[in-house]
Amino acid sequence: MRLRVADAWYEAGRVFCIGRNYAEHLQELGNEAPSRPVVFMKPAACLLPQGQLIRMPRHGSELHHEAELVLLLNPRGGEPGWSDVAGVSLGIDLTLRDVQADLKNRGLPWELAKAFEGSAPIGDFVPAAAIGDPGAITFTLSVGGEVRQHGNSGLMIFPIAAMLGALAEVWTLLPGDLVFTGTPAGVGPLRPGDRVEVAATVIGRFAWDVA
Ligand code: ZN
Repeated sequence: MRLRVADAWYEAGRVFCIGRNYAEHLQELGNEAPSRPVVFMKPAACLLPQGQLIRMPRHGSELHHEAELVLLLNPRGGEPGWSDVAGVSLGIDLTLRDVQADLKNRGLPWELAKAFEGSAPIGDFVPAAAIGDPGAITFTLSVGGEVRQHGNSGLMIFPIAAMLGALAEVWTLLPGDLVFTGTPAGVGPLRPGDRVEVAATVIGRFAWDVA
C-alpha cells in the first residue's frame, strides 16, 4: 500500500505496534508497566484505508478497538526522534481480545489476535511539520457518535523519541515504516453495523463501518 504525506509517497513498510504505553490502559487489562516498550508487528497487508469495511474475523468473537496515534517514518540517520517522523495519522489497532487472552494464557505469539487481515485501519497522513507539539496531541475514538477513548500523547509511558530509540536498537528504521504508538484506556468491542471514528483537531477525522 502506498501512503502519501503532502507531495511525498511512501511504500508502507513494517507496522511496528507499541503495547502497554498508557498507564490507565495497563490498569484496565491488569498488566504491569513494562521497563522496555512492548513491541509487536502487523504486516503492511493489514492496513485498511478509509472506505473499506471492517470485517469481523471468524476465529474470534470479541473485536476490540484500540485508537492510536500513527507515525510514518522517514529516518534522517541521527539520534532517533521526532525529526524521523514524516507524517502523523490516527489508526485503530484492532484486536481479538478473546483470542489474545487465550494466547497470553498459553504463552503463545499474538498474530492470530492482532495481525489478521484488515486489523490496522489508518487515516490520511498530515506532515509532521504541521503538528505543533508532538507531546500534546489529543485524539478520540467514538462508536456511533459516542466517545469511548480519549488519548493524549503527553501521557505516553514511552514518548515518541524513547519508543523510536528502543525500536532503532533492534531494527534499522526505514522510510515507510509505521509505528502504532499504543492505546489509551477505554478499549471495547465493535459489533456489526457500528461506525467507528477516530479524530484529532491537528490531524483530521477518519471513519470505518463494521460489516
Ligand atoms: Zn494497541
